[in-house]
Amino acid sequence: MSAVPLPEIVAHLDPLLRTGETPDYPGAMNGLQVEHRGPVTKIAAAVDCSARTIRGAVDEGANLLLVHHGLFWGGPQPLTGARYARVRLLLDHDVALYASHLPLDAHERFGNSLLLAREVGLAPSAGFARYETVECGVRGDADVASAELLARLRAFARAHGGDVRASAMEPDRRTRRWAICSGAGVNAGTLREATAAGIDTLITGEGPHWSAVDAEEHGLVIMYAGHYATETLGVRALAEHTAARFGVPWMWVAAPTGL
Ligand SMILES: [Zn+2]
Repeated sequence: MSAVPLPEIVAHLDPLLRTGETPDYPGAMNGLQVEHRGPVTKIAAAVDCSARTIRGAVDEGANLLLVHHGLFWGGPQPLTGARYARVRLLLDHDVALYASHLPLDAHERFGNSLLLAREVGLAPSAGFARYETVECGVRGDADVASAELLARLRAFARAHGGDVRASAMEPDRRTRRWAICSGAGVNAGTLREATAAGIDTLITGEGPHWSAVDAEEHGLVIMYAGHYATETLGVRALAEHTAARFGVPWMWVAAPTGL
């Protein structure tokens, strides 16, 4: 079985994902978050870094965990309670942790929104959901019954332990111009951008109640397919790529949150 020094994998991933140049929220701390003695013999991928996903990796003998949401979302905090337990699990089992949030979302191969579009039969033609210098989502044109699109999203979300909801929608409605922004993708900025781009259907993971109220008044339908489900595809594709590139096995750690 191959064994690859962690720095070799990090030296491949950082430039591939443009980890250093991609803007993000401070707690994202993209890149290598926890190192190990190594070397890497098996890669695990998960949406979140949690006790459940670390244990899932350890149980199957993986010692590099790739995640979309890393350890430090809450900013600097004491390593006590659940935070201590996560770090201890990583260290006790010599598991390294690499996180990629917006660098993954904005990526031309591994973007969550890009891969979700393909998964439900949509062809992206442009970016969407600008955050500083990058676009975290995608958009495009189609001609599909909105109910059919919702059914495809429902199948996808249910396969990942979630479900889909939609804002108010006429039964015979068609989707002609759509946008996708995975995760918590609905905010005042993305709604403004959607209106300006003439988007009629916005697919996201989750959003506040007011977004469904506003959508109706903008001739927009928002489909909420789950934060977890909509962010499974990118990190999965990244792990598959990395495993093939370095000749090590990889595994998916399913840990649905129900959201
Ligand atoms: Zn997210």
